[in-house]
Amino acid sequence: MNVKFLDLKAVNKPYMAELNDASRFVLERGWYILGKEVEAFENEFAAYCGVAHCIGVGNGLDALRLIFESCKQLGLMEPGDEIIVPANTFIASMLAITQSHLQPILVDADPISYNIDVHKVEEVITSRTRAVLAVHLYGRLADVTALQEISHRHNLLLFEDAAQAHGARDEQGQLAGSFGDAAAFSFYPGKNLGALGDAGAVTTNHSQIHEQVRMMRNYGSLQKYNHLCKGFNSRLDELQAALLRVKLHGLDQDNAHRQRLADEYRKHIRLKDTVLPDVNVRQSHVYHVFPVLHPNRDELQKYLSEQGVETLIHYPVPPHKQQAYHEWERLCFPATEYIHSSELSLPMSPVHSFDEIFYVSEVINRFPG
Ligand SMILES: *Cc1c(COP(=O)(O)O)cnc(C)c1O
Repeated sequence: MNVKFLDLKAVNKPYMAELNDASRFVLERGWYILGKEVEAFENEFAAYCGVAHCIGVGNGLDALRLIFESCKQLGLMEPGDEIIVPANTFIASMLAITQSHLQPILVDADPISYNIDVHKVEEVITSRTRAVLAVHLYGRLADVTALQEISHRHNLLLFEDAAQAHGARDEQGQLAGSFGDAAAFSFYPGKNLGALGDAGAVTTNHSQIHEQVRMMRNYGSLQKYNHLCKGFNSRLDELQAALLRVKLHGLDQDNAHRQRLADEYRKHIRLKDTVLPDVNVRQSHVYHVFPVLHPNRDELQKYLSEQGVETLIHYPVPPHKQQAYHEWERLCFPATEYIHSSELSLPMSPVHSFDEIFYVSEVINRFPG
């Protein structure tokens, strides 16, 4: 048996008829940028996340940058201010901070949840700290209760990078994207809610941030040729918005399937020294990926590939060891480095079958290494 890591064509197949209708509708209407589809998606996604506002933008990186630039223009942050961020996040979280002339302050991961270690946040707060960027890595909600409490106590803004956590809920049913002052989403095709191209969004309950981001994504204007600030061009387009409206209907069902597959992996994987994601998080993990840790990760990956099982590593090199951030090469984050050296993401998507998960698990259990 061959098991792909992620087959996007298969992921979109159940939606094919509706996606065809939606795209034909946009083509026939002949309006492609900032129209009825974007507006409808913004309303539907805000309602889904349980927030007051959603602004459709070009991609997830821009969503983060638009939040930071808007906060600077509103006087909530200044160049050089510090933002606390988990050291083991995808590099986009860091890039958005440094591109906004803000200073990322890296905090190590918690070795159980793989999210920011909330016990290490307060020790890095200085007089320049203005915000915490929570990242719901791999689809698991960060400890938002603790982060809200710390942000509140130190008068910091709280942002979310929710690019991997569409639809993740806490025990009260509150959704990713609604816990802080503003949140960034990516709808890159492989995300839990994926477009058929690049797309992103900002969600917020903060009316000033909402207005500023809305202006900033479109050349700093709300009215054509009237520019109130020096904006970006980063707009969700009508076609992607129409496609996302279709796929939003299936998001909860798709996430529920991912959760069932995660249960199957847990039921079947028996390989010694393999660490599976913590089980204590039923709803709050939407398994953007299913990360396992193994001391011989590289050999395990090679063996699985020989057996027809495709896997990925999220991520092989942490941001502070990337050439792009050579200025951080002396920093040391033991949990982050441990995760990066032993993490392997197993096949996971809304269209993998229980048989495939069983097969992958059995192959893993026979790993000779
Ligand atoms: C995908 C991702 C982003 C960036 O999204 P793009 O749409 O690719 O710009 C940011 N943060 C995290 C954690 C991501 O996984």
